[in-house]
Amino acid sequence: MFNSIVVHYGEIGTKGKNRSFFEKKLVENIKWNLKNEFVSVKRLYGRIVIDLKENYNKELLKEKLSNIFGIANFSFAVKSSLDMEEIKKTSLSLVPEKTSSFRVNSSRANKNFQYSSFDLNNLIGKHIQDNKKIEVDLENAETTIYIEITENNSFIYNEKIKSLGGLPVGVSGKVISLISGGIDSPVSSFYMMKRGCSVIYAHFYNSSINTKQSMEKVIDLVNVLSKYQFKTKLYLVPFENIQKEIIKEVNSRYRMIIYKRFMLMIAEKILENENAQAVVTGENVAQVASQTTSNLNTIYKATKSLILAPLIGFDKDEIIQVAKKIKTFELSILPYEDCCSFMIAEHPATKSDPEEVEKLELKLNKKQLIEEAIKKSVTKKIIN
Ligand code: ATP
Ligand code: MG
Repeated sequence: MFNSIVVHYGEIGTKGKNRSFFEKKLVENIKWNLKNEFVSVKRLYGRIVIDLKENYNKELLKEKLSNIFGIANFSFAVKSSLDMEEIKKTSLSLVPEKTSSFRVNSSRANKNFQYSSFDLNNLIGKHIQDNKKIEVDLENAETTIYIEITENNSFIYNEKIKSLGGLPVGVSGKVISLISGGIDSPVSSFYMMKRGCSVIYAHFYNSSINTKQSMEKVIDLVNVLSKYQFKTKLYLVPFENIQKEIIKEVNSRYRMIIYKRFMLMIAEKILENENAQAVVTGENVAQVASQTTSNLNTIYKATKSLILAPLIGFDKDEIIQVAKKIKTFELSILPYEDCCSFMIAEHPATKSDPEEVEKLELKLNKKQLIEEAIKKSVTKKIIN
């Protein structure tokens, strides 16, 4: 019965002059994600309308549209004419057999339409009541019949399906997300995409301790995340030489801090290379003893790049809940040894000073180590 989908966005509707840029991006993202499961995807007076093929796969479309940032909700709808008799007939057909109460919710993008929303609610409401003998309930109706009037058509539906909200991926610039195989960094990348950023991933591995499987795991994680951003890139950066040098020269209490500083210095090069604007981490204050504000300051001072850590104030439980919802959790909990915890003290420093740590780094040939790691890194394109 449905021949179209009406897509509503939340926040992008409030973006003033940028609105059409946001809408076009959203249309582009919808087209990409739906592959060829549609006839057309068009902007239409503050909404997007997808015309469906005759034999569309409802469950597949539902799943795909539920994972697109920028969509607040969507509805499978009957696209009809502006003829009142047809609107009445369609509205009535969308009231399920066993409904005890209903209401009509009309909106009119076409102000030339002969009836106001208020009048349309009453006229259609009366028609349904006359035919179904059921109660109108404006507060808690079991069924709501939605009618949207545009210039040439009406769209009528009875269900709104929630999607992710946020902004369309690609409207907010590019970021480099440091992804480990853990629970946090995939979630933190998800939140950046939610705000419209395109995320490029970087993973550091030490081939002397990390097995091939752990790299596969990170690739799998990025693959899951490509459900939300359909095209991305993953930098795989070898870290063993850097770690070898650090282990040789630096006291074990400070190694973790210096590992992370190197990750950021390398991320800065990737950022320049990619023309990106920020580096993203999954860091979280005090999740482990060494994640103090003092250490974060020392780590972040290694780069002049903007660092964003969207999970900074989350509880672990909250992060896990999101990880489960976005389907990264099952992968993240597979056994895996992160190179950050390689050969570090049982009690790493919880207080540190950027200048002191910089002095410790003087023994290392920073520039050469960084250049070499960049040169030996490989990139992998990931396309959903
Ligand atoms: P996660 O669950 O993301 O691993 P975590 O709570 O275990 O985070 P750490 O291991 O201290 O915390 O790492 C903090 C952040 O540093 C990670 O969220 C990630 O952004 C980055 N990071 C750590 N290890 C790596 C790695 N091997 N490659 C890329 N980034 C990393
Ligand atoms: Mg970790």
